[in-house]
Amino acid sequence: MNLKDKKYLVVGLGKTGISTARFLLSKGAKVVISDSRAEFGYKQELEEFKNTGVMIELGGHTDKVFLWADTIVLSPGVPYTIPQVQHALKSGIEVISEIELASKFIDKPIIAVTGSNGKTTTTTMIYNILKSSGLKVFLGGNIGTPLIDIAGSEQQFDYILLELSSFQLQGIKDFKPYIAVCLNIYPNHLDHHKDFSEYINSKTKIFSNQTTQQIAVVNKDDSILRDRLEQIKAKIITFGHDAGADVHYQGFVVSYEGNDYDLSKWKLIGKHNIENAMASIIVSRLVGCDTQVIKNSILEFNSLPHRIEYVREYKNARFFNDSKSTTPHSTLKALEAFDPPVILIAGGRDKGLDYSVFKEQVANKVKQLILMGEASSKIKDIYENEVALQVVSSLDSAVQQAVSSLEKGDTILFSPACSSFDMFNSYEERGRKFKEIVQCL
Ligand code: ADP
Repeated sequence: MNLKDKKYLVVGLGKTGISTARFLLSKGAKVVISDSRAEFGYKQELEEFKNTGVMIELGGHTDKVFLWADTIVLSPGVPYTIPQVQHALKSGIEVISEIELASKFIDKPIIAVTGSNGKTTTTTMIYNILKSSGLKVFLGGNIGTPLIDIAGSEQQFDYILLELSSFQLQGIKDFKPYIAVCLNIYPNHLDHHKDFSEYINSKTKIFSNQTTQQIAVVNKDDSILRDRLEQIKAKIITFGHDAGADVHYQGFVVSYEGNDYDLSKWKLIGKHNIENAMASIIVSRLVGCDTQVIKNSILEFNSLPHRIEYVREYKNARFFNDSKSTTPHSTLKALEAFDPPVILIAGGRDKGLDYSVFKEQVANKVKQLILMGEASSKIKDIYENEVALQVVSSLDSAVQQAVSSLEKGDTILFSPACSSFDMFNSYEERGRKFKEIVQCL
């Protein structure tokens, strides 16, 4: 693909945007960059681009710049809903994600993982198994390194393993993974997508260019995915709870192709992680990994930080950090993973999602609900007559409140169901702060 003198607009000057602009310049394209922020890091990179004559628009977007381009490349997280993108689309300008651009310069088989929840856990699990099997794997996309960083380079990899978000998939046209995995679809990012159906379409786009030569790995327990199985042209392998799925489980034993994978001694918690393991087993077997290597690697796998992460025991009660839970559905999954009694700490920035999805779990398991952050009153309205409930003003007070009513055998679960940006810079900072407070008890 010849990019010489083609006019490219890169939107969003983060890690991915910088790599994209550098790649395009190296191919002789004409590049303009636009970012809504006026002030941010990457000062050195800004200088580098200015010195090579790249025009940079900061502090907002303008139609003039967007309508100049032949192609617009959106960085992950930049929504299609911004008016200038909509105007460009109406004028027939191509709008793509960095994944679409990069994949045109990749000639190794791609394994792509998406879903509303479980992407990082599953992608990392697959990576560990493939590495243990001696395969050379590039891990990137929504996790770690942008794909564009290896586009067009000498690729010494057996497989390219990508975690992909709905935004990255919304901007694909010809992207065709050898193996595409969709773990589940729950409402999320409705603040950035036009509506839920646009979000579903973005997720399922992962299968859209596949043919019978490629493979789709699909969660059969997910009704949204189940309803769309007929639209998938690839060879389908399903995972799910009942024996109707190609890979299924009973208790802690996963069965696939006549082999049993006993997970009863593994380190993860919750049924949702068995789903992540089933998807990982399918992918690993498809690329030829040995069943014993797969078993060992899964049994060694530790929960990733901030995903139902065990913190400590204090006064015979156990504390778990699930700060990565930024949607009601991931809090539902976390609650499903524990026996009662649970003290749940939740709240943060509201993303317009429905907090009643974990009502039944609260009724059955939660003895106390402690709320903080901007979403407190919305969650309180649903739960105030259902459970003992307090609203607090900080994470410190939330932990103090939990400690004051602790009893032997309690589980204290910090699973916010909301994003962190009302009080913290990221879910990582929020989770680290929680662990710090708990360790200091
Ligand atoms: P993602 O990368 O999709 O955000 P993570 O693996 O980082 O997913 O997990 C995010 C949150 O979702 C955590 O709170 C985790 O406990 C929960 N989770 C993990 N796997 C699943 C799954 N298969 N289904 C539902 N929730 C999950």
